Amino acid sequence: MYRSHTCGELRIADTGKQVTLSGWVQRVRNLGGMSFIDIRDRYGVTQVVVDDASSQDVKDISAQLGREYVIQVSGVVVERASKNSKISTGDIEVRAEAIKILNPSITPPFTIEDETDGGDELRMKYRYLDLRRNPVKNALLLRHRMAQEVRRYLDGEGFIEVETPFLIKSTPEGARDFVVPSRMHPGEFYALPQSPQTFKQLLMVAGFDKYFQIVKCFRDEDLRADRQPEFTQIDCEMSFVERDDVLQTFEGLVKHLFAKVKGIEFKEQFMRMPYSEAMEKYGSDKPDLRFGMEFVELNALVKGKGFGVFDNAEYVGAICVPGCAGYTRKQLDELTDFVKRPQVGASGLVYIRYAEDGIKSTIDKFYTPDDLLAIAKKMAAKPGDLILILSGAKKKTLTALCELRLEMGNRLGLRSKDVFAPLWVVDFPLLEWDEEAQRYFAMHHPFTSPKPEDIPLFKTDPGKIRANAYDLVINGVEIGGGSIRIFDRELQQTMFDALGFTKEEADKQFGFLLNAFQYGAPPHGGIAFGFDRLCSLFGGADSIRDYIAFPKNNAGRDVMIDTPSTISQQQLDELSIQVRKK
Ligand code: ASP
Repeated sequence: MYRSHTCGELRIADTGKQVTLSGWVQRVRNLGGMSFIDIRDRYGVTQVVVDDASSQDVKDISAQLGREYVIQVSGVVVERASKNSKISTGDIEVRAEAIKILNPSITPPFTIEDETDGGDELRMKYRYLDLRRNPVKNALLLRHRMAQEVRRYLDGEGFIEVETPFLIKSTPEGARDFVVPSRMHPGEFYALPQSPQTFKQLLMVAGFDKYFQIVKCFRDEDLRADRQPEFTQIDCEMSFVERDDVLQTFEGLVKHLFAKVKGIEFKEQFMRMPYSEAMEKYGSDKPDLRFGMEFVELNALVKGKGFGVFDNAEYVGAICVPGCAGYTRKQLDELTDFVKRPQVGASGLVYIRYAEDGIKSTIDKFYTPDDLLAIAKKMAAKPGDLILILSGAKKKTLTALCELRLEMGNRLGLRSKDVFAPLWVVDFPLLEWDEEAQRYFAMHHPFTSPKPEDIPLFKTDPGKIRANAYDLVINGVEIGGGSIRIFDRELQQTMFDALGFTKEEADKQFGFLLNAFQYGAPPHGGIAFGFDRLCSLFGGADSIRDYIAFPKNNAGRDVMIDTPSTISQQQLDELSIQVRKK
């Protein structure tokens, strides 16, 4: 028997018990005639004490111990003289009667403590050691809890978990595919799924009615901070549903998770907002609603007063920052620098200080105090507020204003990680025009249904068609997205036409789905949640990395197993692959 208890288990009530623990040496402190060994496992840390009364054998072994040695300790539980309220076993210690080294350890490359001295790359290289640290271990425990609760809720709602294949067909839409060569079929390739989208739709044709899967997806996208080439979705699909059925079911899932995992009850229905409104009011399709500062368009109030910058702008918009009229010149200069950064892209910043003792701005030359007051009124500003105005081409200015709003939210501490503001964004555009390719792309994916009343626009103005699509946004982060699907072969063909697919191309790529639609496809719709991101949101972290057991770094590499890597000439030959020499 390796252990009678775990290292997180013993309490004051266990005093006097004979116990055996196994685990890793967290620390050894030698204090003259006494030494303390902290022994750790997944469940916690227990203090082991070796003193004058201990046998010579125990003293000798304890003198050999180093960090991360795996040991087995037997002894008696005693009450501690000085208690440690920070750990669950802090009232007791184990007086060692026998210590056995099960396995020594070389010195770890960084300290296995909550605050470690290891840098990112080093921790990734020795991920199995990093996983011994509480913050990372707890992140994975949270993920486990969440996965269990997802299954519990969806099972309770009658959803069936079905596994769909990983070796599938490459499709040109969406992101780039990771492809897998086929030894048996030289020159032919599988692709790893970007999502199980078509399979879950086929499961609906098959009559499964409610499907889900917690599933790996793969996208060979350009690398960005915190983007993983493989990630996990909670993927779901339902039959005989309209949008509101889907929203209600999955709002239920998210509320269930908040209640069970975070102890937060959402009584009200989540807010819903059309995409167009999100763009006008927040300049983003994933607005952070933890705070206000909605945009107000000022075109009608500011144009025609001789201020060329505004007169020539397509759009003039502002936010009202509460209580910041007292901003110093330096702070305002900082904000001006902020909006001029290439990532934000504004050409300048105009401000109006609505102070207690009067209203002042950088554009006093062109606007009378009454003009400025009219602006303040339109903004619903109160004395003490600061109005920040950006102008220019509409789309660009909305985006810049969005960045400025988030920056002010940060500065004013309005983006607490303990506050959660969920929102459904609905009615996304169906199609997006791509200047470079000179064609439309599906904003969501080609199987998303248009809103029925917008179908005639295919003939006249496809860019204006609204999709029956929705995203769940929490705190400015897109957590999930889905749509009601096209289930009619004709309409699916119209969609492919709009995307510029010839009939042959559509048949080659998606013939299996189009065929299936001829055999009684039910109306259906679904959603997929980014599970890694949802976990990090619940855990209060910015990065998804620690919620993934073995993540890739920002360059898409696994530095622990060192991949991607080359393969042997023999393997290449078997796969009929010729590698172009660099
Ligand atoms: N398959 C979609 C995605 O990965 C989600 C969905 O429409 O259900 O974004």
